[in-house]
Amino acid sequence: MRLPQFTYQSPDTLEGVLAVLDEYRDQAGVLAGGTDLLVRMKHRLTLPKVLVSLKHLDTLSYIKETSGMLCIGAKTPIIDVIRSERVGQQAPALVQACERIGAVSIQHFRGTMGGNILQDNRCIHYNQSQFHRSGRQPCHKDGGKICYARDEADRCNSTCQSDGATALTALDAQLTLNSTRGERRVALDAFYTTDGIHPFDMQPDELLTQIDIPVVPGAVSAYERLSFRSAIDYPIVCAGVRLVPDPDDSGCIGSARIVVGAMGRSPLFLAQVSRSLAGVTFDDTAALEKAGKDAMNAAAAFAAHNAGAELAYRQAMVEKMVARALTQAAARPSARKAR
Ligand SMILES: Cc1cc2nc3c(=O)[nH]c(=O)nc-3n(C[C@H](O)[C@H](O)[C@H](O)COP(=O)(O)OP(=O)(O)OC[C@H]3O[C@@H](n4cnc5c(N)ncnc54)[C@H](O)[C@@H]3O)c2cc1C
Ligand code: SF4
Repeated sequence: MRLPQFTYQSPDTLEGVLAVLDEYRDQAGVLAGGTDLLVRMKHRLTLPKVLVSLKHLDTLSYIKETSGMLCIGAKTPIIDVIRSERVGQQAPALVQACERIGAVSIQHFRGTMGGNILQDNRCIHYNQSQFHRSGRQPCHKDGGKICYARDEADRCNSTCQSDGATALTALDAQLTLNSTRGERRVALDAFYTTDGIHPFDMQPDELLTQIDIPVVPGAVSAYERLSFRSAIDYPIVCAGVRLVPDPDDSGCIGSARIVVGAMGRSPLFLAQVSRSLAGVTFDDTAALEKAGKDAMNAAAAFAAHNAGAELAYRQAMVEKMVARALTQAAARPSARKAR
């Protein structure tokens, strides 16, 4: 499959990249590792006239800790996150998520952390070749008025299948976005729209520059996922969790963040289910399992028939993924110390 025609720019400063985005806006595409973007271009799912490459922006590739935040540059390769001792200690859920991304070749050579969060939502009916799609009426995301994934849907329900975004939402991450107009910060769980066609609350002239994860003393996290194959495959259900011990040293969970991924248009932060774990001891297996069941019920409304597996199966697996992630997080040494 051949790429469509485009012009290519690779400025060597952040200002240069922002200037290109400002000039071409909707017609520009940011090229990080290209493992999502170039595939979509080959399928004619996106047709940017100008590709602006981050190739020379090595200043956006770093992992550091400042002012109580673990900061990851948007162009940081996935493999650097996997190998980072700092991330492994402060945010193990993110390392686990990155280890599961696609293929070793994506993790090692091309895929970046920013590109992982900003990869487009997916749908088995839409992420197909142009030839395949030409055989039937276009769906909402293809410019039509129907949806093959959910009967009578008035909008696109394509799914966020990013491993990284699910773990980072559980870790309460924040994003920094830059444009020629300045800089803004946004919590990852507030970054999503309710439309799978434009899933991110982001302007076309904005560039993601940094991902911040709050370093919370004693916090533990974990990530679990299910996919058809163990490699070269996207998750069909996944879960990221973070548990913070009660500051009064009571041996209980003070607060929790439970996030279900690959089921909705965005990673689903389940606030009510998360709140139900406050005051529960880390070794209360029944409470952790019940949270898994509650998560399954809460996530059910968001799922669409668009990831290949039976919907009922994916929904049932939410319970397992959440319960496993919670059990795993609660068993980490720092959680055991809090007991
Ligand atoms: C076979 C295969 C399997 C895969 N499996 C998985 C998987 O299991 N889990 C998973 O999460 N992903 C998977 N992916 C998707 C993708 O490879 C990874 O998410 C990867 O991390 C994307 O990073 P990238 O740098 O290559 O992104 P790109 O393709 O370069 O970019 C992705 C999108 O983000 C935009 N973008 C990138 N960086 C920025 C920035 N800094 N600011 C603004 N916009 C930006 C691009 O314009 C593009 O729209 C898979 C891909 C393939 C081809
Ligand atoms: S969810 Fe519906 S509208 Fe969206 S890509 Fe899939 S079939 Fe198309």
